[in-house]
Amino acid sequence: MNLLFGLGCLFISSGVVVAAQFQLPTANRAIFQRGAEEQFFVPTTGKEWMTGTFGCVRTDGSQFHEGLDIRCLQRDRRGEPSDPVLASADGSVAYVNRKPSLSNYGNYIILRHQIDGLEAFTTYAHLSEVRPDLKPGVQVKAGESIAVLGRTANTGEGISKERAHLHFEVNLFVSESFPVWYKKTFPKQRNDHGQWNGQNLLGLDPLEIFLEQRRLGAKFNLVQYIQSQPELCRVFVRATNFPWLKRYAALVQSNPTAQREGVIGYELALNFNGVPMRAIPRSASEAKGKAKYQLLSVNETEQRKNPCRKLVTKRGSRWELTTQGQNLLKLLTY
Ligand SMILES: [Zn+2]
Repeated sequence: MNLLFGLGCLFISSGVVVAAQFQLPTANRAIFQRGAEEQFFVPTTGKEWMTGTFGCVRTDGSQFHEGLDIRCLQRDRRGEPSDPVLASADGSVAYVNRKPSLSNYGNYIILRHQIDGLEAFTTYAHLSEVRPDLKPGVQVKAGESIAVLGRTANTGEGISKERAHLHFEVNLFVSESFPVWYKKTFPKQRNDHGQWNGQNLLGLDPLEIFLEQRRLGAKFNLVQYIQSQPELCRVFVRATNFPWLKRYAALVQSNPTAQREGVIGYELALNFNGVPMRAIPRSASEAKGKAKYQLLSVNETEQRKNPCRKLVTKRGSRWELTTQGQNLLKLLTY
């Protein structure tokens, strides 16, 4: 392979190789100052800054928050937030919602990026204004202003001026078939956002990513980061042709036995949020049982630490996939 063309998303300029990385989506950089968390994260009313971070941080750990709530630095005369919101990486617009009444995210933007061979997405929510020219397909550069920070949401209680923040996510995408699957699975539920429904995007922890990028510099690699996360469980899915395998081929491992004998399904390692961190092809001789979806193992320490996605549950002495866990695998392989 020609070396220059093989470098993928690496950018070369005057001999310096710079890896594509995520940048902070506003001018707030307190995340990198020790002990300055309160200047960066906006907590839920009356709670600690931790409730503005990613993970099982809400309602005493039982509720999931899929992004970071980033504090505004600027206010206008009326006390409304006015910080520019910046594209976190080079990419293109995937989706824009300009009808705040249709989402608890209010006005929001989803950008699509190619990072270390993976299609990754970033989500910017509760915006007061979205740049008028933004629509799907428009290219953006890292650091480019795309919106104004705000506090839009369709929730009853809304977001107070005091709590105005940018809700920021880094996501992987589950399936193009989401709208069809959702309609069939939840016929009475509305879906105003097509495949850009939040249930079709799996969040990664942006705080960990920013800190790892800072620690490792150009050595940071998104595939390595994803695969270094703790594993919640292993599942086997009896399916061989689903979009995740193509979109996230960099997360698929090789298995010469299965490749020789014929692949009949995939063993998936899921993190606590259900992100398939790695997929291992399996042959008939390697697979047990006949079920379409099978739970192979559970990391009980991780489940105790991060139980809020409720993907697995213990019935008596046996671990099982919950309906939520099964739905995720059904959507993934639909
Ligand atoms: Zn949030």
